[in-house]
Amino acid sequence: MSAMIIDGKELARRTRARLAGDVAAVTENFGAAPGLAAILVGDDPASETYVRTKRRQAAECGIRSTAHHLAADTTEADLIKLVHALNGDETVDAILVQLPLPGHIASHRVLDTVLPGKDVDGFHSRNAGLLAVGRPETVPCTPRGCLALLRHAHGDDDSGGLGKLAGLHAVVVGRSSIVGRPMAALLTAENCTVTLAHSRTRSLPEVCRQADVLVAATGRPEMVRGDWIQPGATVIDVGINRIERGGASRLVGDVAFDEAQHVAGAITPVPGGVGPMTVAYLLHNTVELFHRRRADEAAQA
Ligand code: NDP
Repeated sequence: MSAMIIDGKELARRTRARLAGDVAAVTENFGAAPGLAAILVGDDPASETYVRTKRRQAAECGIRSTAHHLAADTTEADLIKLVHALNGDETVDAILVQLPLPGHIASHRVLDTVLPGKDVDGFHSRNAGLLAVGRPETVPCTPRGCLALLRHAHGDDDSGGLGKLAGLHAVVVGRSSIVGRPMAALLTAENCTVTLAHSRTRSLPEVCRQADVLVAATGRPEMVRGDWIQPGATVIDVGINRIERGGASRLVGDVAFDEAQHVAGAITPVPGGVGPMTVAYLLHNTVELFHRRRADEAAQA
């Protein structure tokens, strides 16, 4: 059997094309385009690349963006001061704090300083809490992109009613606050039966084999083997790991793709799966925050 390869690149392209149309319309209506402010602290090359890609794709969609690149030794107090300034800046609808931050800065304090209504990544405790209790406002971009990939793979047209993921057993491996936990909450809202596995889970291969939908987000290169997968299952590989093999450097996921593609029913590749969808949903969230802010302002007027 050969799995259907879920083309995240193409789905992301379509998502961005839809957004570009929406952005053009709101820019004409309101006389201003949605504004995204990106904060980067330090010189991590991967983070620099992510921020560059996000800003380039934002521009392609007609979203204005500004970048605030701070030195690696910036204090937490100075970073928080910048976040306050952006919170109060009328031209900024969405604030992105690129993670990871340097070790001397407490990420949670910085993320909780961003106004929940400008929190494009959905990392503020209020937004995380709302998602956990089933009243989501802004949802983290990676899990949101994963859900879109899953719906696409299952032919779910998002037309309301009970979706096609309902009743499936979903296993999410990894419980970080930016991927695993919000992913489990989103799948619960889709009426999946959800198992959230982690490094202390016993008999992990057996747990994974029970999954109709398997989401791997561990940061462990090719950890999920082909024989951990139930034949026909849908596999979403969130991992992005750079490894050296045969004298060359390449990107691999948390799933051993070469094995898994012969067992799974559908699978995301790395690269070209979850990564492009994360950026597409960052832009989607930016536009959503723009709309929400204008609706709040209209309600208060
Ligand atoms: P974290 O390191 O924050 O969390 C990893 C999670 O995996 C933890 O919950 C940990 O368990 C669990 N884990 C680690 N080792 C094992 C193991 N051997 N067995 C079972 N569970 C294990 O990672 P992130 O969630 O931030 O990222 C995960 C991966 O996704 C990384 O490869 C990252 O690069 C990638 N990523 C990709 C994105 C994209 O756009 N495609 C966006 C964000 C991340 P425990 O809690 O018990 O320690």
